[in-house]
Amino acid sequence: MSIKIGILGYGNLGRGVECAVKHNPDMELTAVFTRRNPADVQILTETAKVYHVDEAVKMKDEIDVLILCGGSATDLPVQTPEFAQYFNVVDSFDTHARIPEHFQAVDEAAKKGNKVAMISVGWDPGMFSLNRLYANAILPGGKDYTFWGKGVSQGHSDAVRRIDGVLDARQYTIPVKEALDAVREGKNPELSTRQKHTREVFVVADENADKAKIEQEIKTMPNYFDEYDTTVHFITEEEMKAEHTGLPHGGFVIRSGNTGWEDEHKHVIEYSLKLDSNPEFTSSVITAYARAAYRMSQEGQSGCKTVFDVAPVYLSLQTPEELRAKML
Ligand code: NAP
Repeated sequence: MSIKIGILGYGNLGRGVECAVKHNPDMELTAVFTRRNPADVQILTETAKVYHVDEAVKMKDEIDVLILCGGSATDLPVQTPEFAQYFNVVDSFDTHARIPEHFQAVDEAAKKGNKVAMISVGWDPGMFSLNRLYANAILPGGKDYTFWGKGVSQGHSDAVRRIDGVLDARQYTIPVKEALDAVREGKNPELSTRQKHTREVFVVADENADKAKIEQEIKTMPNYFDEYDTTVHFITEEEMKAEHTGLPHGGFVIRSGNTGWEDEHKHVIEYSLKLDSNPEFTSSVITAYARAAYRMSQEGQSGCKTVFDVAPVYLSLQTPEELRAKML
């Protein structure tokens, strides 16, 4: 019997989860819920239907795991606690500083409904978090580094689009090669924000706009750009469409540390991701954790969980016997 999946919110992640479900033979998509008019939301799965979000709770017995694909800023802090009372849920909440309070709210709701609620699943938080934890456990005396990119930061792209005279913008975060090399060599360098990443911005400006002023505004924007070396390129709308429509991303989680009585042996642990599509990869991680949420719920577990609480065997399509025979 397949795991019946619901998707709540049909943006980039919602579409990505729909694709990932198609690639997982033990799952089927039952429904997509949206806050928009369902007639305006076209999905690809012929066997599933689109409903208004107000219909979701009525369908709680028809869905094994509801995957919440709303935005972290304002959607998930409300939606995850709301729906964790009625469904096993998975979200990708990525506001790192607010994860503890999100956990608290979701945990209360999930325990009330006796459901499993998996939060902050994806690649960061998610796979990067797991790799930070594993590397820390193995090399307690070491040093952690996370580099992001090269990839599109949607938050930074949005911030540039809000500048007067900017019609469209795409921002790439790029790790600094020298910093990455030093870390990989186990030199344990102290790195400032500026030394770790640079930012590159492609802007389509209104023809009457003052480009020098736009460039200055970008480079001095507090929190977003002022602590980085930023390069700004002005391009045409056609160039933007031809070269910058994708959402690639990735990065590196590295920990270096020493072992031996006198710390004489150096070790470097590295996990890296190069993603053509950030939302499709994130959705694939989420879908694997939806399987885990279902299995943990079947075992009678409840409450809020993160990637730290999930044993790897729960994620896999293969049985524990197959895993021991082939992958151990
Ligand atoms: P998005 O495309 O902006 O979609 C967010 C929501 O916007 C959708 O669920 C959808 O809800 C709504 N929406 C309204 N009008 C829309 C329209 N015309 N087209 C598409 N959607 C529309 O955001 P996203 O790229 O899916 O990302 C969602 C969140 O995932 C981000 O906020 C980020 O925090 C998180 N994320 C996490 C990771 C990680 O590694 N943990 C990685 C990537 C992203 P309705 O259908 O209800 O309208």
